[in-house]
Amino acid sequence: MIAAPEALVRLREGNRRFAADVRSRETWPSRARRIELAAGQAPFAVILGCSDSRVPVEIVFDQGLGDLFVIRVAGNIVAPSQIGSVEFAAEQFGTRLVVVLGHSKCGAIQATLEQLQRPMENQSRNLRSIVDFVRPSVESLLATDLRHDLDRLIHEAVRANIRASARQLRHGSRIMEHLIQNDGLMIVGAEYSLETGEVDFFDGLA
Ligand SMILES: [Zn+2]
Repeated sequence: MIAAPEALVRLREGNRRFAADVRSRETWPSRARRIELAAGQAPFAVILGCSDSRVPVEIVFDQGLGDLFVIRVAGNIVAPSQIGSVEFAAEQFGTRLVVVLGHSKCGAIQATLEQLQRPMENQSRNLRSIVDFVRPSVESLLATDLRHDLDRLIHEAVRANIRASARQLRHGSRIMEHLIQNDGLMIVGAEYSLETGEVDFFDGLA
C-alpha cells in the first residue's frame, strides 16, 4: 500500500514530465506488465476526472497500466455510483489517495452556467441530471460581480465544482469518513490546465 503523500508526489512528478514533453519509459504499456497485472492490481491513486477528450488521466499524469483507478464522468460530478467506485478501490486495493480532477474551460460547467442564465425547456432529462449536480456549487457565483466577466466566472465555477465534489466524496458515506479518520485516506481537488498541461492541486492539502 502506498501512503497518500507519496502517491501525491508520484502524480506531481508524472504531470511535470507530461507538461515538459518528457515521458517515462517505465510507464509505457508492455506485454510483461500486462501479464503481471492479470494476477491482480494495486493502483496507487483513484482519480475522478471529467470525460473531456483533452484530459486523459493516465496520459496527463504519465502513468502506466495498473497505476490509476480512474472514474470519468462529464463535469467530474459525484453521484452514488462514483462514491461506490471510490469505496471499492479504497477497500479492495488499499488505495489511499483520491483526486477530483477538473479542468479549465469545462463544457459541463459552461453548460450549467448557460442553463442557469437562459433555461432551456427541451433539454434532455439525462443531460439535465448532470447540470443539476453542478448547479448548487456554481449558482451563487452568478449573484456576484463575476457574472460580468465570463472567463473568470467559468474559472471560479470550475474550482467551486471541484471543491464541492471533493467535499461530497469526503462525506459521501460512513465508509469514506471512517477511512479518512482512521486509515489515512486523503481526498484532494485539482485543476488541469488545457493550455499549460499542468495540474494544480489546490484543495484538501494539509
Ligand atoms: Zn469537463
